[in-house]
Amino acid sequence: MSQAEPTKDVAPDAKRWPTRHWPAYTAAIVLLMLVSAYGLWPAGPSDSSAVVLDDAPRDSKEPSFMPNFNKSLDQWRAQLTPEQFEVARQGETERPFTGQYWNHKAEGTYNCVCCDAPLFTSETKYDSACGWPSFFRSSTPENLHTLEDRKYGMVRTEVLCRNCGAHLGHLFDDGPQPTGTRYCMNSAALAFEKKGQEEQPKK
Ligand SMILES: [Zn+2]
Repeated sequence: MSQAEPTKDVAPDAKRWPTRHWPAYTAAIVLLMLVSAYGLWPAGPSDSSAVVLDDAPRDSKEPSFMPNFNKSLDQWRAQLTPEQFEVARQGETERPFTGQYWNHKAEGTYNCVCCDAPLFTSETKYDSACGWPSFFRSSTPENLHTLEDRKYGMVRTEVLCRNCGAHLGHLFDDGPQPTGTRYCMNSAALAFEKKGQEEQPKK
């Protein structure tokens, strides 16, 4: 009759505690499954994944930077030449004096080879004698993003395309006036658009 006294038909220690903790067990198992499924668990590089960002091999990329869009590595590989892919999507550097634009003097615009975002113009290109196309200013700095790069035992400033996350090159402070900066870019990360071409009527 009285409800004050709890029933004691089951031994308190031997049988009741596992049942009572079932929600906790279930929650722990579900959590482990979620962690595994979403890749939060330490794992090796998964190159073939369709959704993985291409920044996995680049230890300099800060988690705060997310480009406007990205594609899978397979999609980039299909779009680019092998050298463009190695440089722009894998963060490699082309050998000096070998690229298409280090000694290129035509008037026009240098765009991102991956997404065609305008980055530099020939007006700010200068001969730095370093073997890579160099600019003392970006025509569209809003299209660039810089990160600290500590690869190869050096501390450098990496320059990326803000739109698609492509690795473009590095930024140095030994450029000419009026800026004193040198955007040291890889030819393989750039696509040149000759002056006048961009003024063609668009449908
Ligand atoms: Zn881009």
